[in-house]
Amino acid sequence: MKKRNLVFLIAMSMLALTSCDKFSSDVTTTTMVVPEESIVEETTLKSEVETTKEKSEKENNNELSFMDWKGKREKSGKDILKNETGRRKNYYELNVDFDDKSSTLDIDQKLIYVNDSEDDLNEMYFNIIPNAYSKGYAYNKKDKSSSDSDKDMTCVQSIKIGDKDCKLTRVKGTVYSLTLPETLKSNDTLEILMDYKVTIPKLQNRFGYYNGEYNVGNFIISPAIYENGEWACNPYVEVGDAFYTEIADYKVKINAPEEFKVAATGTLENGTYYAKDVRDFAFFTSKKCEVMSDSYDDIDINVYYPKKYKVNAKEALKCAKKSFEIYNELYGGYPYDDFDITMTAQSQGVGGMEYPGLIMISISEDDLKFAKTDREYFNEQVHDVVCHEIAHQWFYGIVGDDEINEPWLDESYANFSEKLYNYKSGKKDYDMGNIIDAYMTLFKDVEPPKDKSEFMSNLYEFNKDKDLLYMAIYIKGGKFHYEMYKQLGEEEYLKCLKEYVKTFAFDEVTTEKFLNFWKDKGDFKKMFKEYLYGNEIVDAM
Ligand SMILES: [Zn+2]
Repeated sequence: MKKRNLVFLIAMSMLALTSCDKFSSDVTTTTMVVPEESIVEETTLKSEVETTKEKSEKENNNELSFMDWKGKREKSGKDILKNETGRRKNYYELNVDFDDKSSTLDIDQKLIYVNDSEDDLNEMYFNIIPNAYSKGYAYNKKDKSSSDSDKDMTCVQSIKIGDKDCKLTRVKGTVYSLTLPETLKSNDTLEILMDYKVTIPKLQNRFGYYNGEYNVGNFIISPAIYENGEWACNPYVEVGDAFYTEIADYKVKINAPEEFKVAATGTLENGTYYAKDVRDFAFFTSKKCEVMSDSYDDIDINVYYPKKYKVNAKEALKCAKKSFEIYNELYGGYPYDDFDITMTAQSQGVGGMEYPGLIMISISEDDLKFAKTDREYFNEQVHDVVCHEIAHQWFYGIVGDDEINEPWLDESYANFSEKLYNYKSGKKDYDMGNIIDAYMTLFKDVEPPKDKSEFMSNLYEFNKDKDLLYMAIYIKGGKFHYEMYKQLGEEEYLKCLKEYVKTFAFDEVTTEKFLNFWKDKGDFKKMFKEYLYGNEIVDAM
């Protein structure tokens, strides 16, 4: 995510820091095992235990993927990043009925869940992010619900595992548990059928609608990540991008009224979206927008925009083409066939937001007025936000990270990518060092944290009273990578960075893995101690 108007944001942050609107919650700050006593409702499972897996599934058990689909760029042998992790991945099949009269989605979902851990599982945990917009959600600073209804935004109608009816039970915030009818053995798969209804709130945000434009992000009920013997159960929080998901395959059918245009993750073939090796699936829909298209190296790029923003949409399209040219070279080939940009007032709550194959960019009437006074500066702003969100296709999308507990890992690279984009696109008189120094003046009166660097903070800590420090993981994060770049020299640094992306592609990186990768590439000890203090490995260096 990127807040486009940084100065405005900093001013807002100052306000937030001095207000008494403090966030209070008992959210733990690391990956946690949810204690049993926090489960507030009893599940209603039948006691008989029956076999839950079908024979055909068992035959498929050793397949890496449940979706036999290839994109045109993969088929034609383009030089793209490939999933070589050897990890088996979850598979989603969704039928989504969108109704604009009631602003709802009716969803039939089949999830084939792979237990790729060494443990046998008796329960699972899921995230239902839309319920962060239900009335009185405890983890948001402001109540962002759209109605007075006490009903949750996501209402589950049925869940079936085999012929057993199951139930999701709220554990904490947007985290839900599900007791399995029988043990899911290590390396086994499980088919879970869900039927649920999602109400889209009236909000200008990445999940919400306004003036006939619908942003539909993070709407899918998806399993939490099980790693190191624990479920990563972290409720949604307002600041940043509180998401942590694994690579999966999606086959999605979106049924919208004919006059609605849809922009979505994945490739549309015969009315169905195929999205292979992605961390999430999101879409946008509106009946009032225009579409502008172009392509780069067989990547089909589309911008969706209301007519009045045509000039800006053109600029976004230009930037997208250039971004793919630069990043494909720097980080390795974009692995998908399609890329959509939405440029609407609907995204104002976020500035810019990244999803696999889809970014949502905010624009408003005020922006248009401003653009008239200084077109060149405004275009630079458009380029900065678009190239930032496109960089997230590699940093968050391809190289994943726990965006809740270690958000610096992707935001710092997205920020540094903006600098590389401007430099590599040959922007006149552009000096990365000078630009970074100029932004750093925003923090000149901010006392750095004592016990641990802001890079070591999670979103719950940032949400309490550290909005400005959250911005530091972007700006100072960009500076950190720039200093590593300067020390190694451009050629060597970029060679290593490309290797970094390839090493962690379609996997999840951690601060520990980051350190292990970079520590022997140069003499970075002093830099690590300056930027990443409070990390056990760094403190022991
Ligand atoms: Zn970002």
